[in-house]
Amino acid sequence: MRAIHATLLITAALFGSQALNAADAAKPEQQPQPEQTMGPAAPPTKQKECPGNPDPLGVSRVVEIDTTGGPGFGFQHYRAYDFLQPKEVVLTFDDGPLTNRTMAVLAALNAECTRAIFFSVGKQAAASPEILRDVAKSGNAIGAHTMLHKDLSKMPFDQAKDEIERSISVIHRAVGGPTAPFFRFPFLKDSPETLKHLADRNIAVFSTDIDSFDFKPSKPDKLVKHIMALLEKRGKGIVLMHDIQQHTATAMPDLLKQLKAGGYKIVQITPKAPVQTLPEFDALIEKDIKGMPTALSDRPMTSVVKTVTGQ
Ligand SMILES: [Zn+2]
Repeated sequence: MRAIHATLLITAALFGSQALNAADAAKPEQQPQPEQTMGPAAPPTKQKECPGNPDPLGVSRVVEIDTTGGPGFGFQHYRAYDFLQPKEVVLTFDDGPLTNRTMAVLAALNAECTRAIFFSVGKQAAASPEILRDVAKSGNAIGAHTMLHKDLSKMPFDQAKDEIERSISVIHRAVGGPTAPFFRFPFLKDSPETLKHLADRNIAVFSTDIDSFDFKPSKPDKLVKHIMALLEKRGKGIVLMHDIQQHTATAMPDLLKQLKAGGYKIVQITPKAPVQTLPEFDALIEKDIKGMPTALSDRPMTSVVKTVTGQ
């Protein structure tokens, strides 16, 4: 086992069917909770059990990451921190939110009381902030994936910085609360300058261990088989998927069931502290966020707007 750098704090917290939640945190016999400023990342339910699911996939371990200095994760590009044990999996979803597809992915995760990281595109977050809020309120970490999903390695640094920082500001504003200092490059293409910028900003960079290639057309059952085969081969890893893809959304319930049946365990990643937006970029994104509510509502979108006839 590779030595784990001091910046990576592993919190061995059992989760899922023994959900860590606000009710637990209030109990005097519990360990005092570390300073918690990631409000929207709190688990969605106060029940210890997973509602409607007696044997959920859940979360086996919560790993807290101190993002100071911008550590990189995912062995396709960054080989410093091999923190996953055999059979441990981190689920990640890029490019959303997209209304029905992201909602379907979120419903599948919630049905199994499990968690993922969502790397949101700023333009999408501005278009569907209510979806991203629901994703955050379910306890998932929300990271950034640039404003317009362009290849940052092929543009001048100032433009790349703008793509990064605008997305962080928009996503933070869309969620209406703390978001994670986590970033993934579009097409996984970094550059020395952008990496240095993210390191200076104390933002962790995520590549992947297992690329599902679900951006290519496929059938849900083929996608599940493909991901399970890659996992069997590597034994563990950070899995890259896209919540904007229909076949991915459709595949998710079966994928989570097969992960459970295969003895895989989900590791939830949380940041030690939320991302700090830059005020000059908060000002620049005002036109993108016009009309968004200013505060995080407790009501999920599905309780406000509901289809009563039709599909
Ligand atoms: Zn992407």
